[in-house]
Amino acid sequence: MDEVDVVIAGGGPAGCAVAAALAELGLAVLLVDAGVDRHKQLAGELLHPTGVRDLHALGFGDVVDAWVSQPVRGFAVRFHAPARTLLLPYGRGVTGLSLEHATLTVPLLESVGRRHNVTVYSRARVTAVDHNDARGVRLRFCYQGVEHTVHTRLLVAADGRASPVRRMLGIAEHHQRLSTMLGVTVDSACLPHPEHGHQFVGGPVHALAYAIQPGVARVMVDLPLGSTAQTLKARPELLLALPRRLGAEVQQALEQRPAPRMASNDDWLAETVWAGSAVLVGDAAACCHPLTASGMASCFHDARALQEALHRHPGHIARALERYANERRPAQRTRVALASALYSAFAGQDEGMRALRMGLLHYWEHSPRGARASMALLSSEEPRMRVMAREYLRVVGHAFIAMFSPLGRGRRLRSAGPLLRSAGPPLRGTLASAMEQMGSWLHRRVRRPVYRLARAGWASPRRAFASNR
Ligand SMILES: Cc1cc2nc3c(=O)[nH]c(=O)nc-3n(C[C@H](O)[C@H](O)[C@H](O)COP(=O)(O)OP(=O)(O)OC[C@H]3O[C@@H](n4cnc5c(N)ncnc54)[C@H](O)[C@@H]3O)c2cc1C
Repeated sequence: MDEVDVVIAGGGPAGCAVAAALAELGLAVLLVDAGVDRHKQLAGELLHPTGVRDLHALGFGDVVDAWVSQPVRGFAVRFHAPARTLLLPYGRGVTGLSLEHATLTVPLLESVGRRHNVTVYSRARVTAVDHNDARGVRLRFCYQGVEHTVHTRLLVAADGRASPVRRMLGIAEHHQRLSTMLGVTVDSACLPHPEHGHQFVGGPVHALAYAIQPGVARVMVDLPLGSTAQTLKARPELLLALPRRLGAEVQQALEQRPAPRMASNDDWLAETVWAGSAVLVGDAAACCHPLTASGMASCFHDARALQEALHRHPGHIARALERYANERRPAQRTRVALASALYSAFAGQDEGMRALRMGLLHYWEHSPRGARASMALLSSEEPRMRVMAREYLRVVGHAFIAMFSPLGRGRRLRSAGPLLRSAGPPLRGTLASAMEQMGSWLHRRVRRPVYRLARAGWASPRRAFASNR
């Protein structure tokens, strides 16, 4: 049986980033990737500035510089009724990037495969976890038709939202299928605001669009569950919130080759992100609706958080994984809650959500600070749940102001109840987050002396891994 410091299941954005991060600590990494065809996938193409920054920090600067990517300066949110567009800029001096999914991901895997300390097995698949405890993991993987058994000090599950490895580890999950995404490419000249990610809100369906290469833009249309391209062909009125020319281009693209790409939009949340000597990263740990385009930035953040945790607790996997879980939890909680709240606000058809949309429009129109704060939350620059709750309440306040303006006439009483009720989940989330932080602070205070003893004498992660086998 072979031995290796770290096995990573999955060579997507999360797996590549973790491989780079842990190799930098001097650990020997085996990355096993099942080889999903990224040229056919509808998935991450817009990367926020935080993600770009983390990629540089993880040593992928040469890959980022070689990408033929499009700059993204923030979001352009186009409301259907009343017809207005608001620009939400990133902070001063920072830009995100957008490019086709395979063009983004394939070079990351190639780059990580060239690194010292990293071995990549492509078209290989983790098939079973036979044993997992505080001393390590024994697992099996299939490569070139042969099944291998390996013992590792740390197993990283970076195998995506449906994560087979999460199930092999017996980690419970919450799964909810939300909608179906259809993606086509169109002429980027149809986008009203170059260098922005577009959100088309308040129409019969929600849609996103951004340039992915010179002259080419991706449009993603969020359709009810079970929809197909045929659904959109038969009901062109679903595209009412898009500018007329863009809507026509989408209809035309439905008739052409390549066929539209489809994906399901899901909430997929793991109950815990670590067990024994195994840890979940990226979508395997948490996945939500992609309208905030925060999935990949979150993968890279996970990689850096795991690196930092193992660096701090080189001889104690359990302590390191607990630290990783605590470090990433607040930002994840905010990201998932925000995606859910925004999806309801952007696509919801009931009175409460219509009123909330009016509140967003009024808030962003009257407060440039508010527009920047919203973008900081959207792009994961601002991870605090209490800031999200504060901004949500401000939007609700603006919704009430808008209700009593000429725009909101006739909607007042019907909307007030649902609007107030919609603020419940973010407020409850903030409270739960505060309680949890206090609990984990207390937990750390009580257990710290034990960890201090366990750590004594371990100088580097590499040596500690070796001595701990
Ligand atoms: C429609 C849509 C649009 C999106 N848009 C954006 C966006 O604009 N911006 C953004 O940041 N995010 C976006 N996302 C989210 C983003 O795509 C994901 O967050 C990101 O791809 C997650 O990366 P990952 O490495 O965790 O998982 P994945 O990218 O899913 O990679 C998982 C890897 O694991 C491998 N694998 C699976 N099973 C096994 C196994 N048993 N053994 C070994 N390997 C295995 C697969 O081959 C695959 O390579 C979008 C998602 C969707 C669905």
